[in-house]
Amino acid sequence: MTKIYQSFSELIGNTPLLELHNYRRSRALGARIVAKIEYFNPAGSVKDRIAWGLVRQAEDEGRLRQGDLIVDVTSGNTGIGLAAVAASRGYRTKFYLSDNISRDKVKLLRHFGAEIVTVQNEFFLDPEALDKISARIREENPTAFFTDQLSNPANPQTHFETTGPEIWRDTDGAVDIFVAGVGTGGTISGAGRFLKSQKADLKVVIAEPAAESLPTEDDPYPDEIDGVHKVSEVSPEQLPRNFDTTIADEIIALSTADARATAHALAAEEGIFAGTSSGAVLWAATQLAARPENAGKVIVAILPDTGERYLSTSTEQTQ
Ligand code: PMP
Repeated sequence: MTKIYQSFSELIGNTPLLELHNYRRSRALGARIVAKIEYFNPAGSVKDRIAWGLVRQAEDEGRLRQGDLIVDVTSGNTGIGLAAVAASRGYRTKFYLSDNISRDKVKLLRHFGAEIVTVQNEFFLDPEALDKISARIREENPTAFFTDQLSNPANPQTHFETTGPEIWRDTDGAVDIFVAGVGTGGTISGAGRFLKSQKADLKVVIAEPAAESLPTEDDPYPDEIDGVHKVSEVSPEQLPRNFDTTIADEIIALSTADARATAHALAAEEGIFAGTSSGAVLWAATQLAARPENAGKVIVAILPDTGERYLSTSTEQTQ
């Protein structure tokens, strides 16, 4: 029975790479774009990796007992990953969520049995929001295990040990450019650091939301790209501690409309239905692939989750 997995955690990671041939051909792109499709993880996103990384470290340190409560602040996917890991290992979960996240994610969290505390999106406009929410979580849950994905080094470390090495192994070291978005910064910092340690001239590129897609006091609920944040022109205290500000060689900004249109193109041309942040990453990868200096290069784009997670919020494509 060697082909039968014995635990939920064994299903995490080793996600496939798919070269986007149709997408490249129809745009006559010089570089090759390879998508790492993270919705193959068992609870459906890249965040299953860190969910297990954070829980495993706590178990190894003897900080979790059966029935214990796990808490964190999340834009949804970390919560879903943690709730699924917790369900499989006998813990309870409670998450602090902004009230702009997709209804699909809230439903998924409830299915996994998580308790939800809603935080108004305006709260995150406060420059000290990250520190304030962490302090609130500790105060309201003194006996819980706070996974603290924004600052816990086990987050980027998981990507350094899994996402980065998988990309290196599965491209036989041919990867030249790595593109991802930044939520906590775990993916770009951990996988980026690993890939740069293997190939010194590898480029790490961030796809970030343009100013027009961000909440403001006048419009606290714009059409945002779920799960990713702006990192340029942001003061250091507003950035998660897990984001390594020295890792990126370039930052490419784009609108939510471009991210959605690109996610749609990916589904229509390749049969891969990924979420809006995946569309953002692919849009940035497309700009890079069109540059003459990148002809023939291999660009690996992280697709963090599935578009099914946003069906309740996405506007219908009519073409
Ligand atoms: N895309 C989506 C959909 C996400 O949920 C997240 C995590 N919030 C990211 C991208 C960014 O990943 P990371 O936290 O590793 O920077």
